Amino acid sequence: MARAKKTDLHDFYCIKCGNKGIPIARQRSHNHGKFHRKKLYCLHCKQETNHVECKNEIETYEFLEDFRNGVYEDEAKEYISDVRDTGIGKVNLGY
Ligand SMILES: [Zn+2]
Repeated sequence: MARAKKTDLHDFYCIKCGNKGIPIARQRSHNHGKFHRKKLYCLHCKQETNHVECKNEIETYEFLEDFRNGVYEDEAKEYISDVRDTGIGKVNLGY
């Protein structure tokens, strides 16, 4: 009944809209640095955006504070312009 592996459920927050994304179970030994970025599909933005990993309530609070202060605005814009520049989804459609 008990699970052998210890996993934590980490929350991911979209840097574009600040909404909570889909949580991902991580093995406890598998630790990234603080505010690790991960490209995930955001249900609110209806596209893949960078998400920030929040491992606990303190990090979540810090992220939301930063988000409200516009810390992630430039990064969110940059990411979107990158996608446009490379033309993902438009390449090779004529063949
Ligand atoms: Zn979003």
